[in-house]
Amino acid sequence: MPKYLDPSKPCACSSGKTHAACCRPYLRGEQEAPDAVSLMRSRYSAFALENAAYLLRTLHASLPERAQPESEMLTLLRRACRAYDYPGLQILEEKTDGAKAEVLFLAQMFKQGKDESFLERSEFALENGRWFYTTGKMRRASEVEAPTKVTFATFVPGKDEGDEAVTV
Ligand SMILES: [Zn+2]
Repeated sequence: MPKYLDPSKPCACSSGKTHAACCRPYLRGEQEAPDAVSLMRSRYSAFALENAAYLLRTLHASLPERAQPESEMLTLLRRACRAYDYPGLQILEEKTDGAKAEVLFLAQMFKQGKDESFLERSEFALENGRWFYTTGKMRRASEVEAPTKVTFATFVPGKDEGDEAVTV
């Protein structure tokens, strides 16, 4: 079961809105995220709230992970959720072109108190009225001088972190 977050409390994606006015309807399947940034935000909230089912249903079918049995994927996603604390998200830049979108963000993540925050340039696709996460390139925030100031123009992916991208 996902963790409970009071709908009147600030959303886990640090949008500044209440959870009810932000990610909650998407996480509960009551509405589809209307754009890639909303989907990105709701996926961060899903990690924070251990909603593995939502993480799985927002992964694009083309991802190799989707070929694994669903129960195994849910176990892996739950493990990823629980391994970290998720204190906040910052969207740095986004662009949408029809059914494709890219979002550059700084995801704050801590593993047993150790800062493992990262920057990611994620790609999203719109299919049948729903946005899906398709792929992403990451960079550890600790390797970047001013991670909150990074833009599409200045983002440089890390060399060996691509495999982790699917977890967020
Ligand atoms: Zn939110």
